[in-house]
Amino acid sequence: AAKRERRSGYRLFDVSMLEETRHQLGLAQRLRTALRKGHIEAHYQPIVDVATGRVCALEALARWTDEGRAVAPDEFIAVAEQTGMIHDLGEVVLRRVVQDVQTWGDVEELRVTVNASAAELCREGFAERTVAIIGEGRHRLDRFGIEITESMLLGDDPVTLGNLRALREAGISLLIDDFGTGYSSLGYLSRFPVADVLKIDRSLLDCDERNGRVVAAVVGVGHAFDLRVCAEGVETAEQLRMLEELGCDAAQGWHLGRPVPSAQVPSVLGR
Ligand code: C2E
Ligand code: MG
Ligand code: MG
Ligand code: MG
Repeated sequence: AAKRERRSGYRLFDVSMLEETRHQLGLAQRLRTALRKGHIEAHYQPIVDVATGRVCALEALARWTDEGRAVAPDEFIAVAEQTGMIHDLGEVVLRRVVQDVQTWGDVEELRVTVNASAAELCREGFAERTVAIIGEGRHRLDRFGIEITESMLLGDDPVTLGNLRALREAGISLLIDDFGTGYSSLGYLSRFPVADVLKIDRSLLDCDERNGRVVAAVVGVGHAFDLRVCAEGVETAEQLRMLEELGCDAAQGWHLGRPVPSAQVPSVLGR
């Protein structure tokens, strides 16, 4: 019956859907206000060089507290994508990051990465705006990285590719996020040789606890394409040991540090 309804173009409407819609609308409205007031923050999670144990990068993760309640990024990013606010959100987060970096003191060797959605990448001028915002902070562009998901590399949207190339040419690094969750074709890794780092999705680490063979294979794939490989979702010392044995370059996860507010970054960096 559900199939027939979908085919005929409408669905039965019930109270729970109405409530869901009302919830989404309210959220969207409050997100718009939060963006206007700049009430979106970034928290920073350390990324550790596996060989040296030192923090080599920080990933900026958007945080929104709505009426005293922390809303999960997966929830408000989806709302932002559906409503077109994702472009504003991306800019607000990047500006925040550029400001925050200035408060940490001498962190020249540290890389900071920011997530971007497909909708941002396929918009004309994304690379130029990104370069300009980083430039306003007088930061070196090669200290910044943009995390994109592999699905963005699959299509061959010329605007997306143009943006990726322009970011790369400006010195901004590109990281393929959540690798292993999308399509399994590896062809695009060679077709679009624009990335610097492959981030292995934490679901691959989870299901690979015992022998590490899946993670080993992905580390091999990354290295075969001359990419640095970073494992996400490292929650145990055991996992970190396994990654070290497999020659994984970098690691990120609760075992190494949770995302923290900007003010706590200097202490995370041990200064
Ligand atoms: P992501 O880019 O893959 O970020 C990693 C997510 O894993 C973060 O969730 C982080 O808090 C979480 N995480 C880190 N270590 C561990 C661990 O050891 N165990 C577990 N279970 N989780 C871990 P978060 O902050 O909730 O963000 C979720 C997603 O929202 C991000 O996934 C990213 O896709 C998106 N996102 C966050 N900030 C932004 C943003 O500014 N712009 C855009 N477009 N997307 C963003
Ligand atoms: Mg990410
Ligand atoms: Mg990820
Ligand atoms: Mg993700």
